[in-house]
Amino acid sequence: MRKVLLPSGVIAVALIATLSAQVPAAFDPLAIGGKDTEWFMSRVGRPDVDSEPQAPFKIMGNVYYVGSNNIASILVETPQGHILLDTGTQKMAAVVFPNIVSLGFKPGDIKVMLISHAHYDHMETMETIRRLTGATVVAMAAEVPSLVSGHDMGPNETWGHEPVQVGRVIESGEEIHLGGSTVKAIWTPGHTLGATAYFITTEEDGETYQIVYGGPPGAITGDPRYDTRPEDAFASYAALREMDPDIRITGHPQNLFAGKLEALWAGTRQSPLMLAPGAWTKTIDDSEAAYRARLAALAP
Ligand SMILES: [Zn+2]
Repeated sequence: MRKVLLPSGVIAVALIATLSAQVPAAFDPLAIGGKDTEWFMSRVGRPDVDSEPQAPFKIMGNVYYVGSNNIASILVETPQGHILLDTGTQKMAAVVFPNIVSLGFKPGDIKVMLISHAHYDHMETMETIRRLTGATVVAMAAEVPSLVSGHDMGPNETWGHEPVQVGRVIESGEEIHLGGSTVKAIWTPGHTLGATAYFITTEEDGETYQIVYGGPPGAITGDPRYDTRPEDAFASYAALREMDPDIRITGHPQNLFAGKLEALWAGTRQSPLMLAPGAWTKTIDDSEAAYRARLAALAP
């Protein structure tokens, strides 16, 4: 790990917690300098109930859930370092790093960072962690302007984030390789301009599995500022339909995990997250049908 002279307060404390604790520490947002409820209320209009600590678990093979109760962060562990998909909110600095440590891995071994989409709740600490670890941020071309500028250029128009130094720019369909693991990125424009779904290939007990983080494009219609080009959305649907994931993790997975956490922590197989046959195709079909219906309704 790089020597860090003056890390920002929140990460410094999170790192200390990481070094001193083998399990996620008791949560105290004021102690870590995170965004407390009053701050969050003033900007979001509700308390942040999505960044609470939650013990990590193995999703499958070398892929682990290290996020909070309702904001995902996913670690792909390899012999040549780790890939981290999304970092969550600033409060989650005290969740993600301790979770990685409790699994027996080192946050300092993060080599590649990927971003589902440039909204603060999924990547507020991305740049801080990049500086601390020296990891390379790999990003979909359409998301780079938002990442490097620190502005939310999507239809939600949130308040933005610390500008992120992007080390590698990819196009839809490209793969990221590290330590024998492969992650394929498919552009899913709409929710933000460069929103991306990631397909992670892993193995367990001699079987190959594919885990998707993300889903179909949240294509925008009827908003002249953010309208998604139909050809981009249709290309995304076609590319997603080529994939055949066994497990899908969503960015806000509390509902997905409801009633399954005990089995997930126990490592029960078959995993309660396994998709039913045809479920992925139906997700794509339903989304595309809804998008086509919206386009048709807007047609003159
Ligand atoms: Zn978002």
